[in-house]
Amino acid sequence: MKIYEQTELDFKDVLVKPKRSFINSRSEVEITREYKFKWCPRKITGTGIISANMATVGTFEVARHMMQNKMFCCLHKHYALDDLVNFITENDCRDYVFLSMGLRKEDYEKIEHILTHYPDKCRNICIDVPNAYIPRVKELVLKMREKFPDILLMVGNAVTAELVEDLILSGADIVKCGIGSGSACITRRITGVGRPQLSTIFECADTAHGIGGMICSDGGVVYIGDICKAFGAGADFVMMGGFYAGCVEAAGDIIEKKFITTQIDENGNQIIETKQFKVFYGMSSEYAQNKHYHGMPKYRASEGRVVEVPLRGSIDKMNQDILGGLRSYMTYIGARRLKDVSKCTTFYRVNTQLNTVFGE
Ligand code: 5GP
Repeated sequence: MKIYEQTELDFKDVLVKPKRSFINSRSEVEITREYKFKWCPRKITGTGIISANMATVGTFEVARHMMQNKMFCCLHKHYALDDLVNFITENDCRDYVFLSMGLRKEDYEKIEHILTHYPDKCRNICIDVPNAYIPRVKELVLKMREKFPDILLMVGNAVTAELVEDLILSGADIVKCGIGSGSACITRRITGVGRPQLSTIFECADTAHGIGGMICSDGGVVYIGDICKAFGAGADFVMMGGFYAGCVEAAGDIIEKKFITTQIDENGNQIIETKQFKVFYGMSSEYAQNKHYHGMPKYRASEGRVVEVPLRGSIDKMNQDILGGLRSYMTYIGARRLKDVSKCTTFYRVNTQLNTVFGE
């Protein structure tokens, strides 16, 4: 038995130090950067925010909105080949859309078909396996890089330097980092495995950058400030599922629920309030297994949950808020370009992050 004694940190455990800067206005900062990759020869200019490849937010609809802001969308892996082909031939997906694959043969065949028959459409691929420590993941990375040398390849999920290094040297451009921090995830509850997200970013980004790779911080964003902290800690991309789950454009019907309030109207009746929600579910939940596969295999336990998320308005408005927060962050720390954010960030370790006297 071994134990690492140093306390590992999450977004909530830190705040960022403001610094004197020469930036006078938020409009002066550059919130996109030009991404250059270790293996993929293409360059992409964008803001490294990615909607997760979960069934409700990794959708065509969400992708169209993300692209407009030079943000990214990782499409979920349950789309049929024909639907993917229609989408990538009708939209300009080259830069901002990732196609997802797991380890299943069907996934490989689907992606191989697209890369072979539509070579100039979408060549951003995400190999997504909750536990990338299993050998088949590295084998698939090697195979994909060998067969399709020019693809932009993101692979996950990892939380330690050793695996990040191994995957990048095997052919990954970006390693997706985070285990157990997702809002719909219960891995930590049922296995005890995971690592706080900020420390994960520190270690993995440092390793990746040292060998010309990049990382995508995946999961755990609760506030816009957490996106800023993730970039500050060294993440090149930040992926979010739950954050977008309540937007109008996320897949799924709007559910209306009535709540009896403690307030009384002019006739003396208790006022009933209607609230709107969307269903959001973990991709390893039993719900997802039943919906997208043929039920839960006996050897697996559910590692995700189903939640009803309050409706939060349009995705464009959310992205505007994110970019506004990021601009303000960069002004506070004196970073003129997104690329400089991590260099300009100094964290304070804190016991209390927010004043919650009037709520979150
Ligand atoms: P969020 O932004 O909601 O905090 O985290 C999104 C991430 O949670 C996803 O990108 C994915 O890595 C992870 N995730 C999604 N569904 C599940 C699940 O059912 N179980 C686990 N362990 N992680 C999940």
